[in-house]
Amino acid sequence: MSPLIAIDGPAGSGKSTVARTLAERLGLPHLDTGAMYRAVTLLAIESGTNPADGPACAGLAREMALQLGERVLLNGADATRAIRSERVDRAVSAVAAHPEVRQELVRRQREWGAAHGGGVVEGRDIGDVVFPQADLKIYLTAAATERVRRVRERAPATSERGREEAGRDLASRDSTDSNRAASPLKVPDDAIVVDSTHLSVAEVVEEVLSHL
Ligand code: C5P
Repeated sequence: MSPLIAIDGPAGSGKSTVARTLAERLGLPHLDTGAMYRAVTLLAIESGTNPADGPACAGLAREMALQLGERVLLNGADATRAIRSERVDRAVSAVAAHPEVRQELVRRQREWGAAHGGGVVEGRDIGDVVFPQADLKIYLTAAATERVRRVRERAPATSERGREEAGRDLASRDSTDSNRAASPLKVPDDAIVVDSTHLSVAEVVEEVLSHL
């Protein structure tokens, strides 16, 4: 039986890079649950659905056909770039705050876990809610200034968003994610906290592996 490794943390903590690298090193499948919330948000934007409308967003979540891999296929179309756009960044926390949206996506995440029998799963509520029985729970964090720098670095070159605005967006997303009633971002009780501010990806991966 493969281990299930949960990696939670705020935006820019290095979750995605670390989770991908870790999965490759261990030969495990990888699930980016943030991409699932982003996909629902993109559908809401494209269909003119109000991100504040929980039941409508949950309807989109239940109906969507989503394939996650090197490319993201959403209802048959390539949405790899679109789910990382600024407008999705701005609306995703509102969509993710709805319990009925989370219920559907958590159901899909558990289905994925059962089908693969383990893997590296990254998100905000993985160790706390989705897989409380995970073999290893990591809470990855980094100083706010460093997280803003990372998020900016991966913004598309065409982006006109200034540094200050990126910082505001990130702080607002963190605050909504941490203060929502449904499955807020928090450190799971039995998680190992890793501060990646001054660590390379390789160093974080070694640190995580040392706990396995
Ligand atoms: O990980 P990423 O930054 O792509 O996640 C985008 C957003 O999706 C987060 O800001 C959060 O609102 C939501 N999310 C969540 N629960 C997860 C993963 C992501 O609420 N497990």
